[in-house]
Amino acid sequence: FGERKPGLLDRLGLARPPAVTRAVDHVDLHVAEGEVVGLVGESGCGKSTLGRLAAGLLAPSDGEVLVGGRRMADMDARQRHAARMRVQMIFQDPYASLNPRMRVDEIVGEAARIHGLVDAAGFDDYVCAQMRRAGLDPALRHRYPHQFSGGQRQRIGIARALAVQPQVLVCDEAVAALDVSIQAQILNLFMDLRQALGLTYLFISHDLGVVEHLSDRVVVMYLGRVIETAPVEELFGRPNHPYTQALLAEVPRMGARHKTYSAIQGEIPSPLHPPPGCHFHPRCPHAMPRCKVEAPQLKGIAIRHLSACHLNDGS
Ligand code: SF4
Ligand code: MG
Repeated sequence: FGERKPGLLDRLGLARPPAVTRAVDHVDLHVAEGEVVGLVGESGCGKSTLGRLAAGLLAPSDGEVLVGGRRMADMDARQRHAARMRVQMIFQDPYASLNPRMRVDEIVGEAARIHGLVDAAGFDDYVCAQMRRAGLDPALRHRYPHQFSGGQRQRIGIARALAVQPQVLVCDEAVAALDVSIQAQILNLFMDLRQALGLTYLFISHDLGVVEHLSDRVVVMYLGRVIETAPVEELFGRPNHPYTQALLAEVPRMGARHKTYSAIQGEIPSPLHPPPGCHFHPRCPHAMPRCKVEAPQLKGIAIRHLSACHLNDGS
């Protein structure tokens, strides 16, 4: 890939170990089978775009998406469709994605029926099973979305995703709109489903507490680039990148663990016109002249810990 090309590149290598993650002017993200990867960063950093690319809802203008180690672009229409089914997206506002004129059983089972995962005779049982899995009472299946609470609607969205038998769930701020107690219930559901179904997750959230609770590995993005990634204890215990350190310092509970770091300065610049060099340099307390002209590369600084900061060059 050309190093100067802009745009996001997402690789979803499901069948491969989480080998190398690196960013130049693109993102190269591997999610291994069974892994829960937390994707964090301020709004506008490209998290949602990356999630949509991974779920096949957006096609990359530049770069490529791999599912199960195969390039989506090399697949024929049927294979690409099957790959998209394997990766399902859970949104922040399930209500916006639930057709208000459809009953819950139709919402949950429609895609599975269209794709031949269930026939007419088995439809009702199939829908009930998905609802039960998502923690919903199947007796409510003839109701409409507006008759459910926010948490229940999110469960409807989850039941609908499960109905097409995915291997990966891309959750984009999936609990952000819910009350804290409901959040915990939905997060527990995600973890139960991981156990029961062996699901892989790309968990996009601005809430670092949620990400710490849930993830095996964390990826931090800033203005369209991955700037740090590490196993969860490593990232929260020994954050390397000044941006990650500032993010952690902003969370009261985590800030106590990271007293030495100062909270983030200034506003996030427009992703359309990112600053040259290190995108973070206008806000970085450690910025050096080099940072204004040269973009730092993601480099390994410990086992499975990569960071993109010139400070790691020891100069
Ligand atoms: Fe700060 Fe420079 Fe590191 Fe960017 S490369 S985070 S500006 S020290
Ligand atoms: Mg977003």
